[in-house]
Amino acid sequence: MPDNLAPALLSAAAMTAIVGVRYLVTSGFFAWLTGRVRPGLYRELRPQIGREVRWSLLSAAIYGIPAGVVAWGWQARGWTQVYTTAGAYPLWWLPASYLVYLFLHDTWFYWTHRWMHRRRIFELAHAVHHASKPPTAWAAMSFHPIEALTGAVVIPALVFFVPIHVAVLGLVLLTMTVMGITNHMGWEMFPRWLVHSRLGHHLITASHHQRHHEFYRCNYGLYFRFWDHLCKTDRGLSAP
Ligand SMILES: [Zn+2]
Ligand SMILES: [Zn+2]
Repeated sequence: MPDNLAPALLSAAAMTAIVGVRYLVTSGFFAWLTGRVRPGLYRELRPQIGREVRWSLLSAAIYGIPAGVVAWGWQARGWTQVYTTAGAYPLWWLPASYLVYLFLHDTWFYWTHRWMHRRRIFELAHAVHHASKPPTAWAAMSFHPIEALTGAVVIPALVFFVPIHVAVLGLVLLTMTVMGITNHMGWEMFPRWLVHSRLGHHLITASHHQRHHEFYRCNYGLYFRFWDHLCKTDRGLSAP
């Protein structure tokens, strides 16, 4: 076995465990919160939740393996543009890189998501995600392996091209985790004044993604409504 294969595999296994535990802890927290805020919302959905957890844990491996290998390469081989000294780039790049990552991820998500709503590929790769009716906090990573793969490659690929401070990368991953869960949990946690504000008109929260799960061929975005507005696929908000 080549020298660097064992540590790379170990890193992939460790990252898979981290992603799996992160999913269980964060989805578990928001599911618990749902029980407090909307008692009984998930009462009829127990068999569905079992499926959501199983697909999500499989997705954890698909997300964990490329992330673990790239994390190993970053530490051991100097791969990637991830930096640790805040002053290595102009300070304005710290917030700008956060927005650039979210926008690029959103762009990738919008177009791959639209593609997965074409009939044949939908049946193969995306029907698993839409089997959640309505989705719950456990559906955040409930994807068929093909869909999981399209999501798993984004950040590990971007870090090779777009410089980002390691803490900002952590913030991007936190945003991805929290929004992925809360957009599916069946109720809106952000206040009405924000969701219905001018800023809210450009952001995606549960009220927007819930409508995608109701009507399918609209509201494809991840974080921003930019592509949905531009391509006229935005059908406004639902009232979860
Ligand atoms: Zn969804
Ligand atoms: Zn969809």
